[in-house]
Amino acid sequence: MPESRRRTFSVVFQPRSGRSERGVQAPLGRRPTTARPEPNQPEPPTAAAPFVRVNEVSKSYREGAVETRVLRSASLELARGETTSLAGVSGSGKSTLISLLAGLLVPESGQVVIDGQDITGLDDVSRARLRARRIGVVLQSGNLIPFLTAEENVRLAIELAHGDRAAARARELLSEVGLARRLDHLPRRMSGGEAQRASVAMALANQPDLLLADEVTAELDSASAERVMEVIFDSSRERGLTVLFVTHSSELAARAQRRLRIADGKVRRV
Ligand code: ADP
Ligand code: MG
Repeated sequence: MPESRRRTFSVVFQPRSGRSERGVQAPLGRRPTTARPEPNQPEPPTAAAPFVRVNEVSKSYREGAVETRVLRSASLELARGETTSLAGVSGSGKSTLISLLAGLLVPESGQVVIDGQDITGLDDVSRARLRARRIGVVLQSGNLIPFLTAEENVRLAIELAHGDRAAARARELLSEVGLARRLDHLPRRMSGGEAQRASVAMALANQPDLLLADEVTAELDSASAERVMEVIFDSSRERGLTVLFVTHSSELAARAQRRLRIADGKVRRV
């Protein structure tokens, strides 16, 4: 599909816990009906350029007098169209890094560059728009709208992205993640694992260029985890989707084309 057309297949979707650093929910943006360039369009990338470059990013959280320094000049690159796994002990900053890459958080210093565009220089609305057009995110807490069924959640994502055949495609996507029998279930009537699988279907609904998946298989049995990862790996192989997934499973991590580990505020190749 040509890029101009692909760009119309996206969704402005604000994950449930998607808050900007200032604690303000970024507004639900409106998808332009035509592909209009962002004001600061990136330079056309060269084939060798990484799709994502995180350059010496630092991020702390402050609660009262207590400051937790999570990332300390952390850098990483994600190769275009490749799958990369991210490991690290609990509390090491994996989810923080995912939020920074999704533009849901802003670092104190350093840059997050996505396809040549430094997103740390964008305002909340522009970051939300970029996320809507190009990024699929599955947060650890899940993404589903609680009062919509599995099918309605995914259909909404496709419709917001101006996709056609929304109902049929929603059912296809949910079947691919093994939820053909849960189409009519509300999130509260799904198991944690089923909700995560529906969140993956939703994150893929806008046909993103970058998928960020935070421990999506943590609550899944091995067969379901396998199935969800196959959907993600297939998207990468077939559509050139760039993927970063967080996992504690060394078996799953080993199936990525590249492996990263986060420790002491830094990200290193494994
Ligand atoms: P991981 O995903 O690797 O378990 P996180 O990125 O969620 O790690 O968290 C890294 C550290 O930052 C942890 O010590 C966590 O308690 C702390 N942290 C995360 N989010 C917040 C927040 N909103 N406010 C204060 N501390 C936080
Ligand atoms: Mg986490």
